[in-house]
Amino acid sequence: MPADENSEVETFAFQAEIAQLMSLIINTFYSNKEIFLRELISNASDALDKIRYESLTDPSKLDSGKDLKIEIIPNKEEKTLTIIDTGIGMTKADLVNNLGTIAKSGTKAFMEALQAGADISMIGQFGVGFYSAYLVAERVSVISKHNDDEQYIWSSSAGGSFTVMHDTGSIGRGTRIILHLKDDQTEYVEEKRIKEIVKKHSQFIGYPITLHVQKEREKEVSDDEAEEEKEGEEEQEKEGEDGDAPKIEDVEEDEAGDKKKKKKVKEHYMDLEELNKTKPIWTRNPDDITAEEYGEFYKSLTNDWEDHLAVKHFSVEGQLEFRALLFIPRRAPFDLFENKKKKNNIKLYVRRVFIMDNCEELIPEYLNFIRGVVDSEDLPLNISREMLQQSKILKVIRKNIVKKCLELFAELAEDKENYKKFYEAFSKNMKENTALPVRRRDDLTQRVPATSSCESKDQVANSAFVERVRKRGFEVLYMTEPIDEYCIQQLKEFDGKNLVSVTKEGLELPENEEEKKKMEEDKVKFENLCKLMKEILDKKVEKVTVSNRLVSSPCCIVTSTYGWTANMERIMKAQALRDNSTMGYMMAKKHLEINPDHPIVETLRQKADVDKNDKAVKDLVILLFETALLSSGFSLDDPQTHSNRIYRMIKLGLGIDDDDMPIEETTSAAVPDEIPPLEGDLEEDASRMEEVD
Ligand code: ADP
Ligand code: MG
Repeated sequence: MPADENSEVETFAFQAEIAQLMSLIINTFYSNKEIFLRELISNASDALDKIRYESLTDPSKLDSGKDLKIEIIPNKEEKTLTIIDTGIGMTKADLVNNLGTIAKSGTKAFMEALQAGADISMIGQFGVGFYSAYLVAERVSVISKHNDDEQYIWSSSAGGSFTVMHDTGSIGRGTRIILHLKDDQTEYVEEKRIKEIVKKHSQFIGYPITLHVQKEREKEVSDDEAEEEKEGEEEQEKEGEDGDAPKIEDVEEDEAGDKKKKKKVKEHYMDLEELNKTKPIWTRNPDDITAEEYGEFYKSLTNDWEDHLAVKHFSVEGQLEFRALLFIPRRAPFDLFENKKKKNNIKLYVRRVFIMDNCEELIPEYLNFIRGVVDSEDLPLNISREMLQQSKILKVIRKNIVKKCLELFAELAEDKENYKKFYEAFSKNMKENTALPVRRRDDLTQRVPATSSCESKDQVANSAFVERVRKRGFEVLYMTEPIDEYCIQQLKEFDGKNLVSVTKEGLELPENEEEKKKMEEDKVKFENLCKLMKEILDKKVEKVTVSNRLVSSPCCIVTSTYGWTANMERIMKAQALRDNSTMGYMMAKKHLEINPDHPIVETLRQKADVDKNDKAVKDLVILLFETALLSSGFSLDDPQTHSNRIYRMIKLGLGIDDDDMPIEETTSAAVPDEIPPLEGDLEEDASRMEEVD
């Protein structure tokens, strides 16, 4: 599309972090580049959702084009790939703001995640998916037309800046993204490759995705006709359009001497092929849907990079009819707690037509981590947000959704491992979203089924956290049921008594003067040990302090008040499961508390005072820390090294010399023949961390 000749080209600088992200995307070696198409299609789909929603209350918004669709046009000659949508489009201001100048929290968060070993394919969840275009393109042009503005072209070859200029062409409404592919990325104009990627990542997109395929066929024409067509073609090319007019090549002359010469010509034509013909997954029979299909649908719905943790697919019939598909993700998104007014994540459809994706009436806030779709048969298609607030139908749907969510939690509780994941990821969300009205509180406590949970009461009662509190004669409420913690938080006090968490930092037990004095003395006495332990453990802990809550355990680990870092750790952990080499980067805000009255701690102190560099001290500190991790409910990054340390301790305890070990034993899998230098692995971690800092 030719740009306005007189219009000026305005140049803008990318916001600093975005520029940094782009150069990271361009320069990082990364082979799974195909995800760029998923991101651009997902943006197209979002844009279509937006115009669809606006048109509900104002149908004239579709005067600029009724068809809601996505098209993909590969061009082998030009080495371009164009993605077209008839969505809401972007005004000039939108282009400037959304594609480069407005900072997003996800930009930095994503770069941190990348440096910590995350995968580029996670980009969508961080809200910066557009820039993945630069995985394959050296230059990207975005032509966009919004109902409220004229047509503009955004363009950038990265390098810190982009341009925006007025465009005289007319695409009606929506956006065309033209990727000028890098020389080594031309596979993305191949029909087969595009089909494969769309099938893999975008098959569940709710608007038709059509691929333009240039095909060639032979056609017989008379000489005159051929001449005409040749002229037509030249005109077309002048216009700069993709030539779908036949290309004439002189193939061979027909029977010589014929008065009217016939020619065989090669004709190029465009074949349109819809790539996502599958009907909406929630309308299908659950028995016919595979786990993979649910997973793929979930991923395209959420931009998540891995499958859901649990799913519930159901339909309700009778006075009112709807179908729903609800998912629990594996972990909270990085910004679950950032944005207080975070919208919920259920998409509302009416008779297969998308209506909106943050309908507050659909699900209570404490369940805002649930993702999915609800498709109602009863709501009117032209429903507005205001009408939804009054809708009785919606109230019934909501009730059913809550019921099904609780059922889903109960089902999940039967699978200890997954339940633990769920609990770690979302119990805090449920707890922190205190917007729940009092009336529903009782409702919730009653409705929650008495599920067995990952922690039994005995296990909790024996934990280090509870020791001193119990010894002091305080009553401890054991919260082993999933929603307990949430409900308790709502109450804050119970029976006129204050409720305090024993596992968080800053637990203050009432002390008498004598105890206070001893605590102060202990702090001084163990100051050096705390310092040394922090040095040894380095980034594995945030700080090491003297504890007042321990009686018979030498130490325990408490978490600092919940925040971004703990959230981040979850993302990292989920990722690291697939790539063990990144385990070393995992840093959580963990505090190690040591028990000044414990003989182990006291002996360590004495040893450390004698020789700060005592190797045994170093070993023991790490061992203590790892054991505390385990007993405080964390998992170990590297259980094998921990086991090796234990074996070494056992050998010491049994008085075994390394030379005495029988060869078969030492080479067996359980007891590696060569025990690694114990302090070495920590140093290795530290150096790795420096690399990425
Ligand atoms: P996200 O989609 O998570 O918001 P992206 O980086 O993928 O993040 O896109 C950034 C923004 O650019 C979008 O929020 C949207 O405002 C705008 N945008 C991107 N692609 C399109 C499109 N095809 N049509 C309209 N707006 C778009
Ligand atoms: Mg996006």
